[in-house]
Amino acid sequence: MHNNIVSIQQQLKSLNFAETAKIVPDLIQKAELDDWTYHQFLRELLGYEQKRREEKQVEKRLKWAAFPFHKTLNEFDIEEQQSLSRRQFKQLGELSWLDQMFNLILLGPPGVGKTHLAVGLGLEAIYKGYKVSFISMGELVHTLKTEEITRKSQNRLKRIRGSNLIIIDDLMFMAMDQREANLFFHLINDLYNNASIILTSNKGPSDWGELIGDPAITTAILDRIVHRSEILYLNGDSYRMKHRSSIFEEETVQN
Ligand code: ADP
Ligand code: MG
Repeated sequence: MHNNIVSIQQQLKSLNFAETAKIVPDLIQKAELDDWTYHQFLRELLGYEQKRREEKQVEKRLKWAAFPFHKTLNEFDIEEQQSLSRRQFKQLGELSWLDQMFNLILLGPPGVGKTHLAVGLGLEAIYKGYKVSFISMGELVHTLKTEEITRKSQNRLKRIRGSNLIIIDDLMFMAMDQREANLFFHLINDLYNNASIILTSNKGPSDWGELIGDPAITTAILDRIVHRSEILYLNGDSYRMKHRSSIFEEETVQN
C-alpha cells in the first residue's frame, strides 16, 4: 500500500502535479473514510491542484510587483479622503480603467495616501490576474541608466515592460538630465498602448517641464501619459501627521 502511494506521488510529480503529490496520501485516506465517489475524488484532486497553482501565481506576481508595503483598498479609509467620492473609489477598485489601458495620475501633498491608493489598486490587479510592477521614480531612473551594465536592472525592466500595470511612485522628485529624460521617454513610449501606468506626484503636470528639463521631451512624455488618463487630486491633511503617535499621554499634552 505504502509503495503504491509513493509511486502515485512520483507519477504526479512527473506530470507536474507537485502540489497534489504532497497531499495525495491524505486525500486517499479521506476518500476511503468518507466513501467518496470516483467523481468526487477526481474533482477534489483537480480542484486542489488548480487552487494551489492559482495561489502560487498570485504569490509570484506579488513578489514581482515589489510593493514597498502591503496595504489594501479595504485598509484605505475613504472618509479621510474627501476629494474622492465613495462611488469613484469603488469604480477605481473595479479596474475597468486597467482593461481600457487608462493611466491614473495621483496628485497631492505628502501623506495624503497616494502611494497607499496606488498599492491598493496594484494588489487588486494582482488578485484579478494582472501583472504589476511598482517602482519609485528615483529607482526607475537608476535602473534605466544601468540596464546595459547589470543583470538586475535588465531583469527589473523586463518585468516592467511585461506588466499590465506599472506604478511609478513620486514622479519628478528630482530633476532629470537629458540622458535620463530620454531613457524615461523611451520607456513611456514602449509602455504606451500596452499597459496602464499609475503615477504619483506632489507636483502637477504643469511643473513637470521644469523638472524634466527639455521641453520637447516633456511634451512627448506628457502627450503619451495624459492622452488616456484620469487625474485625481488628493488633498486634506497628511494622514501621517493626523494619526501620528505621541510620546505624551493626551492629558499631558493638554496641560
Ligand atoms: P503619500 O504617498 O501621499 O505621501 P502614503 O500613501 O504613503 O502618502 O500615506 C501615508 C500613510 O498614511 C500610510 O501609512 C498610509 O497607509 C496612511 N494613509 C494615508 N491616507 C489614508 C487613508 N485615507 N486611509 C488609511 N490610511 C491612509
Ligand atoms: Mg508616497
